Amino acid sequence: MSTYTIPKTMKAAVVPATGADLQITEVPVPQPETLKPGECLVKLDCTGVCHTDLHAAKGDWPIPAKTPLIGGHEGVGVVVAIGAHTQDSPIKLGDRVGIKWLADSCLDCELCRKGLEQSCLKGRYSGFTVDGTFSQYVLSYVRHVTPIPENLGSAEAASILCAGVTVYRAIKYSNARIGDWIVLPGAGGGLGHLAVQYAVAMGLRVLAVDTGADKRDLVLKLGAEKWIDFRETKDLVKDIQAATDGLGPHAAVITAATSTAYEQAVDYLRPGGTIMVVGLPARASLNADIFFTVTKSISILGSYVGNRQDAREALDIAARGKVKCTFQLKPLSALEETYHALEAGTVAGRIVLDMQ
Ligand SMILES: [Zn+2]
Ligand SMILES: [Zn+2]
Repeated sequence: MSTYTIPKTMKAAVVPATGADLQITEVPVPQPETLKPGECLVKLDCTGVCHTDLHAAKGDWPIPAKTPLIGGHEGVGVVVAIGAHTQDSPIKLGDRVGIKWLADSCLDCELCRKGLEQSCLKGRYSGFTVDGTFSQYVLSYVRHVTPIPENLGSAEAASILCAGVTVYRAIKYSNARIGDWIVLPGAGGGLGHLAVQYAVAMGLRVLAVDTGADKRDLVLKLGAEKWIDFRETKDLVKDIQAATDGLGPHAAVITAATSTAYEQAVDYLRPGGTIMVVGLPARASLNADIFFTVTKSISILGSYVGNRQDAREALDIAARGKVKCTFQLKPLSALEETYHALEAGTVAGRIVLDMQ
């Protein structure tokens, strides 16, 4: 079902095989009459670029991505077709929606029923097990696309759909309550600068850890109360505890790509504190001192993107002006150089690709 004119081909960034170079090329657009019930076609305005896309293209994880692969999972666009015989669709033609990492789940298994749909055994993942948003159109699923609030721009919304939801959920489940201290290593980065704002919006006191004057100025402007430059400190654990009443923070949200960051957290956290494990470094293990994990009653919790409710809450907070993503808008042809910059760690904020 569509009242739009859908072209036969579109521009897309395709990874032909695991580890192969990206190709910007013309590929067929899924046509409205081929959509199954429950499927929809979204014409994309823009899409964010996430470190996960790079891991998927390189085959860094124990589970391989499909190939050929169109990556991308932070897309925002307009619904231009819905599969015939779709019953009770929560979205209609013309709605502006977001495409996130979890493209679809069964909504009926125990995990889905308990709100852990991102771990559904029948889950489909954008830009990983199904084609993603580095293309002008994307096939998605009416029950999992996320409505975008009217007053939130598409480019502003894009990075909330993965980076924003991920840190929002991690903070939400960190057991930190209003007035508690939360430490955010990597606070000046893509995920970190969003985490600072969500934490402040939730009434938490933020200790930001990162390096360099630019990042320091950014996080203090966003509402962090204290700052530690990890390159300047001689004893990070001691300095973190000293900055947080001497007892240490109540929670740590770790988005870092090294396992050291997790070991340190057991040392500096306040007894009863929680480590939220969020970063997905390639081939890494978590080493925690068991004696201190037990005697300090430390909780170590994994947090994986977010469910449909988390996505709506994260977008709503952004739409109310509490969280703003720092991003640069670039064309699709800049994807390759963006990957190089992500590998080199030189991307400030997020990169959003303009798809039209
Ligand atoms: Zn992502
Ligand atoms: Zn399920």
